[in-house]
Amino acid sequence: PGEQLPHDSKLPTVVVLGNGWGSTAFLKGLENEGYNVVVISPRNYFLFTPLLPSVTVGTLAARSIVEPTRFLTRHLKRKVEVYEGEVTEVDPTKKTVRFVDNSPIKGAIDGHEISYDYLVYAVGAENNTFGIKGVKDHACFLKEIPDAETVRQRLMDCVESANFAGQSQEEIDRLLSFVVVGGGPTGVEYAGELHDFLTEDLTNWYPDLAGRIKITLIEALPNVLPMFSKQLIEYTNNTFKENKIDIRTKTMVKEVKDKVIIAQNENKELVEFPYGLLVWATGNTARPVTRDLMNRLPAEQNSRRGLLVDDHLRLQGAEGIFAIGDCTATAYAPTAQAASQQGHYLSRVFAQLTKKHALLKELEEAKASNADPARLDSLANAVIRASNIRPFHYSHQGSLAYIGSDKAIADLPMMSGNLAVGGFATYYFWRSAYLSQLFSLRNRILVATDWAKCKVLGRDVSRE
Ligand code: FAD
Ligand code: NAD
Repeated sequence: PGEQLPHDSKLPTVVVLGNGWGSTAFLKGLENEGYNVVVISPRNYFLFTPLLPSVTVGTLAARSIVEPTRFLTRHLKRKVEVYEGEVTEVDPTKKTVRFVDNSPIKGAIDGHEISYDYLVYAVGAENNTFGIKGVKDHACFLKEIPDAETVRQRLMDCVESANFAGQSQEEIDRLLSFVVVGGGPTGVEYAGELHDFLTEDLTNWYPDLAGRIKITLIEALPNVLPMFSKQLIEYTNNTFKENKIDIRTKTMVKEVKDKVIIAQNENKELVEFPYGLLVWATGNTARPVTRDLMNRLPAEQNSRRGLLVDDHLRLQGAEGIFAIGDCTATAYAPTAQAASQQGHYLSRVFAQLTKKHALLKELEEAKASNADPARLDSLANAVIRASNIRPFHYSHQGSLAYIGSDKAIADLPMMSGNLAVGGFATYYFWRSAYLSQLFSLRNRILVATDWAKCKVLGRDVSRE
């Protein structure tokens, strides 16, 4: 990249919180000559979440699906400040953001406050445990890279511990019981990947144990994947049945103990599921920093689901804050698709704001120099046109999910209605769609190479 323009104290400051799908789409589309941009996030990279379930079993390496945020910001026209920090407080009255260094190594300063003119609030959401006892202590989650690595290590630990001689058969079966709670796409995709690992790799390396491994998916609702069409739900049920994944619908987990899950079935009876590994995937809830922001705007922010924004993605009750992605409560599902469209929309809003400010400045100058009325009129009209920013419009491109054994499902909106397809061909479509959407050429090469390596060499069973 060429020389970047330096920070300019006369320009407005845009602070971007997070570097997930929403913020990254914003930064990708941003023309930042007219702004000083600061990005703050506890991790210094973008994560391509749709392929995260593949990291839990080693189909993909973690590094293949991440890309440093600096890779993106160093290509922008004006230098961007990037901080690896966690925002603890947003003050919408003072227009400040407070953040801390939460990484193991800290410098002399452990907290910092900066002011913003505009804030792009895109901190995502955290895992919802519904306050169910024992979940935080005993379950694994699947949101970030360290989560996927923990799942992989615990899985191999269970298998190796089950290999010890002299244990009861019940204990071996418990260690080899892998339970997924939540039949949304995260839980279903993880169960699918786990099945592949079991049949393609563990069977070869642990022939005496692999046959005893049991995968169970627990879902409170009558069906898994409620956002997919009926026939694809049916297709998933059948595929899971063939793959010996036990789906327990209408079963609500009530408590998680050290080695056993307690759930209530449809007859309101309490049932126990002994487990070695538990992956908890029951959706999202607001992060503490988001709840704190809501509490500061009690009159306008009264949704439990997340931040309320207007149709231009401006935070209700605040000035200069835009909120996008999983931290918001909107009419559409919290997906990468929605967050990235919102981020992209915001980058266009900022381009229009730059244009408006430039025109306003021109108008002031024209007025000061007593320009002729026709020019003043035309400039004033241009300001009005530039002020007319269109509201955000979400365009649904379809839903895709991998369900294991080289099968995927896709609900694709078509001119003539909806196309619901599942199977091997959809799996190759799934692969090519995600390959093309990856952040960089580097990511595409790494992911394609990982897939090829997995096919030829199999997955690694070492517990790193
Ligand atoms: P995120 O992408 O989660 O980014 C939030 C950012 O905020 C992160 O950079 C985080 O580090 C940062 N952050 C967190 N706390 C703070 C803080 N205190 N201060 C500052 N920064 C903070 N959606 C799809 O459309 N298709 C899929 O196939 C798909 N697959 C998925 C698979 C998995 C396993 C998961 C977990 C999700 C998947 N999703 C998918 C959903 C999708 O990932 C989210 O909807 C999307 O990430 C939301 O984007 P976001 O920018 O709002 O949040
Ligand atoms: P989700 O909210 O989609 O599903 C969670 C499921 O957990 C629900 O079906 C819920 O009924 C169930 N549940 C909640 N509490 C329970 C309990 N106590 N016992 C048993 N079941 C319980 O969550 P997710 O799968 O993590 O997805 C989060 C978001 O990310 C969604 O918007 C989803 O569309 C998106 N996502 C999309 C993809 C994809 O498109 N392939 C993949 C992953 C995630």
